Amino acid sequence: MRSLLDLTKLADELDMYLHEAVLATDSEATGVSSDEIFDLISSRLKDMRRSAEEASSSNNPCRLVPKTGPLMRAYSEKGGMCGGFILRASAIALEVATYNASMGRIVAAPTAGSCGILPGMLFAWEEFYGKDVADKERKLTEALIVAGAVGEIIANRATLAGAEGGCQAECGAAAAMGSAALAYLQGGSCEAVSNAVALTLKSVLGLVCDPVGGLVESPCIKRNGLLVSVGALAADMAMAGITSLIPADEVIDAMGQIGRSIPPSLRETSRGGLAVTPTAKKLVKGLGTKKR
Ligand code: SF4
Repeated sequence: MRSLLDLTKLADELDMYLHEAVLATDSEATGVSSDEIFDLISSRLKDMRRSAEEASSSNNPCRLVPKTGPLMRAYSEKGGMCGGFILRASAIALEVATYNASMGRIVAAPTAGSCGILPGMLFAWEEFYGKDVADKERKLTEALIVAGAVGEIIANRATLAGAEGGCQAECGAAAAMGSAALAYLQGGSCEAVSNAVALTLKSVLGLVCDPVGGLVESPCIKRNGLLVSVGALAADMAMAGITSLIPADEVIDAMGQIGRSIPPSLRETSRGGLAVTPTAKKLVKGLGTKKR
């Protein structure tokens, strides 16, 4: 799969839902039946749910970043400005990203560093908007199929690797995938899904990869907790009928081109950005003496 436009055209031509067009395309490319692919993704969704549940009760420490998920979860229960859905998505994303950094088992969708974003968006949607949805598990699997197609297209046209394209390619791509899933779950058309992807990615273009001490903790964990909001708002914008002037495929191409222009110091080498601030250097020095 290389194009959201082609996928949209296929869905229109064959009068299919977007997830059915993805399954038909994948099935033709791999020789694996659509039903088998659906079951595989359904099992990935279960893995993701199990991981999010484990993450919410895990006490495994990270090396640098103190636990943030419980703070956000407690705050989300009291209110806050951004609304329950965003705050809960953020709490789940922080928990799962922290769980990854503390060697917990996660689903790297699309990457380990950005693994909190999709579960945050999917499971917060389930909690807030999925209660009365018939066959919710099936619907969430369909949304994950749509998100997966977006990830595959980004991988094929640009990259999903922070070392190649900066954090726009990891957390940015994850937020775009989550945005597509939310637009789909909310009953958006193929065009709305594409616009959600384009609007999300446009807001993260140029985001660099500068992990402190080479650990996938800072800024990674908090970026997971923050970018769920960009993806969710982009999905709402798309559902409101707001379109991206630049189509999704071209935004993805621009993301790839920008990624190639980012200097190596800002592509996962920890030789620039936040990773070389005085505080980061002090923290990294302290790591040498800290026992796990
Ligand atoms: S900053 Fe780098 S290592 Fe951290 S999540 Fe982003 S791309 Fe991954």
